[in-house]
Amino acid sequence: MKLLVTGGAGYVGSVVAKQLVLAGHEVTVFDDLSKGHRRAVPEGARFVRGTLLDGEAVRRLLREGYEGVLHFAALSLVGESVERPELYYRNNVLGTLNLLDAMVESGTDRSAKRLVFSSTAAVYGEPEVVPIPESAPTEPTNPYGASKLACDRMIGDVARAHGLAATSLRYFNVAGASGELGEDHDPETHLIPLVLAAALGKRDAISIFGTDYSTPDGTAVRDYIHIEDLGRAHALALDAAEAGEHRVYNLGNGSGFSVREVIEAARAVTGRKIEAVEAPRRAGDPPELVASSERIRDELGWKPEKPLLEDMISDAWNWMLSRPDGY
Ligand code: UDP
Repeated sequence: MKLLVTGGAGYVGSVVAKQLVLAGHEVTVFDDLSKGHRRAVPEGARFVRGTLLDGEAVRRLLREGYEGVLHFAALSLVGESVERPELYYRNNVLGTLNLLDAMVESGTDRSAKRLVFSSTAAVYGEPEVVPIPESAPTEPTNPYGASKLACDRMIGDVARAHGLAATSLRYFNVAGASGELGEDHDPETHLIPLVLAAALGKRDAISIFGTDYSTPDGTAVRDYIHIEDLGRAHALALDAAEAGEHRVYNLGNGSGFSVREVIEAARAVTGRKIEAVEAPRRAGDPPELVASSERIRDELGWKPEKPLLEDMISDAWNWMLSRPDGY
């Protein structure tokens, strides 16, 4: 298929773009490189630099006639979204709206219009039921989650009105690396790369944000999923949806690890000393986010091949050792 990958120079987008190239698809990556890295665009993919905020540029691009779009381009820092919500609504919501407009306008054969959207567990806010099913109430606790939920809803409405075949994948905590592709954010806020930076001696210690949660060891629990397992779900989702339909799937392993367990696993994998210091809770962090991924397992036959936390940490560690300064 001729496929467009927005945000394909970022952590998740680049890994999915590579998987699609390897599966024989013709891939164009569209990315403004505000967060992503040119070097992360996989070999074999065409690269176009641009922003989804330029509606005319997006329409021109879509007129090239793509059979499917995988949409990753977005801002994704929770803290920043609280401080600058307008930035998040503009980039994430307006960017997605421009993309949908262009897809609808360019759609000659409607049944060929496929969309996979990178959504997030943050749409659920503080869940009442864990593991979280897709039917859980969506009450995001920060503008990042709210902007993604707005996109999910827009995509559903546009899919039903104009015959797009769309899927939103709600990611839990993505981790690990895939060959030469890994996680390189600036600033880095995610637990695993920060713990590994401490193992590498690039930081003095890792802060444990909150030790008084109502969890077994008092620290927050998350569902970590290997980037390659997450990536494989996109190809399945691309094929599955029917025209006029919007599917929603949670994407996680279904098991949770606490912050302390992650740090302990990183000590075991790296063999390095990792200093941990207790710190107050980070604003907006729920105690426990674990996915029920039954729906995607049942409907798409997806299942994780690398569910072990140690494998995720070990792949991330090897990537970091090979690129201590990132891309
Ligand atoms: N966390 C932490 N110290 C850090 C970074 C993160 O204790 O330096 C905690 C964070 O509060 C959360 C968990 O680790 O409970 C995972 O955080 P991350 O930012 O990786 O992902 P999130 O779940 O926020 O999307």
